Amino acid sequence: MFQPPFCPNPRCSEHQKPRPNFYIRCGFYKPICRAHSVPRFRCRSCNRGFSRQTFRADYRDHKPHLNTWLFKLLASGVGLRQSARTMNLSVRSTELKARKIGRHLRRLNSRVNSHLSDASAFHFDEIETFEGQRNTRPLTVPVLIESESRFIIWSESGTIRPSGSMPAKRRLLIESSNKRYGKRSDQSKQVIRRTLQRGARMARQACEIVFHSDEKLSYPGLVKRIFGSGSTHIRTNSQVARTLWNPLFPINHEEAVMRDLMGRLRRRSWLASKKRRFLDIALHVHIAYRNLIRSRFNTDVRSSAQLLGLMPRRLSFGEALGWRQELGNRSIHPLSLTGRDASKPGWKAGACAA
Ligand SMILES: [Zn+2]
Repeated sequence: MFQPPFCPNPRCSEHQKPRPNFYIRCGFYKPICRAHSVPRFRCRSCNRGFSRQTFRADYRDHKPHLNTWLFKLLASGVGLRQSARTMNLSVRSTELKARKIGRHLRRLNSRVNSHLSDASAFHFDEIETFEGQRNTRPLTVPVLIESESRFIIWSESGTIRPSGSMPAKRRLLIESSNKRYGKRSDQSKQVIRRTLQRGARMARQACEIVFHSDEKLSYPGLVKRIFGSGSTHIRTNSQVARTLWNPLFPINHEEAVMRDLMGRLRRRSWLASKKRRFLDIALHVHIAYRNLIRSRFNTDVRSSAQLLGLMPRRLSFGEALGWRQELGNRSIHPLSLTGRDASKPGWKAGACAA
C-alpha cells in the first residue's frame, strides 16, 4: 500500500525531515480517467491535502493511459504527427505530452548517475544536424558514452555557424536567417565541455581513464583539462573505414542507433526539430530508452544502466514514467512500489530493493 514518503509542500517542515506519521489518511477519490481509486492524505503539520497522484509523473494529465504508448512511439522514431494520428489525439496535445514526458525523463536521466568503476573508458563524438533549415541553422550534438556498457552519459545540442561551400544563393539565405534570428553563435566548445564534465563527474573515483575520440584539434586540450593529465586519450582518424575493428566503432554504432531511433536526427527527413530546445528534450527520451529500458545489444538481457550497477534490473516504459522526479533529491525511486524508498534524500540509483 502506498505510504507518502514526505509532504510534497516544499515549505513544510515535513518535506525535508518527515516524521513517521506526519500524515493522516483522508479516504479516496475516483478519477474518471482511471480504473482504480486514488488514496488521499493530509499533512498534520501544514494541513495541506495531497494524494498518491501528487507523487506520480502523470499528475494532472488528461488521458494518462496514452503516456506509455506515446513514449514507445517516440522512442521508436515515429514523428509527432504520426503519433497523434495513431493515438487519435490532436497534434498540439501530443506535442505537449511529448514535452512533459521528455522533461520528466531528463530529470530521471540526471538522477541515474553514480560513480563508475576504477577503470573507465569513454567514447566521444559529435553528430551534426540542424534546427529549422539545413543550410543556415546547423547544430552540433556531442555524445559521450561509457564504452563497455554503451551507457549514454550525456548529450545536448549547441548552435554552430554554417560552413562548407557557399554559393550565392546560400549566402543570401544565411543573411536573411541572421536578420530574423540574430547572428549565429558557436556554442560548440560550451556544450562539449558540459558533456565531458558529466563524464568526469561520473569517473571521479576512477584511477584509470581511457578516452577515445576522432582527431578534432580542440579535443586534446579539453580532455586534459577536464579528465586530468593522468587520462589516456586515444585519437583515431575519422576517415578510417567504419568497420567493427575501427577503435571508434562503439560511438559510430551508437550514433547510427540514435539516427535510426530519433526521427529528428535522420538525414533527409522532415521530422527535423524546428527549435533546438525541443531536440534537447527528445534526446532525453532516447537516452532514457537506451540506458534504462532497452537491453545493451539484441543478444543481451541486461540494460546499459544495469551493467554499470546503476539499476537492479531493466525498467518497463511504465516504470520509467512512474514516479515524479521534480521533487528534488527527495523524489521516489522508479522501481519503488510503496513510495517509501525516498525516505532518505538522494536515492542511490542501484539501491532500491524493489
Ligand atoms: Zn506539510
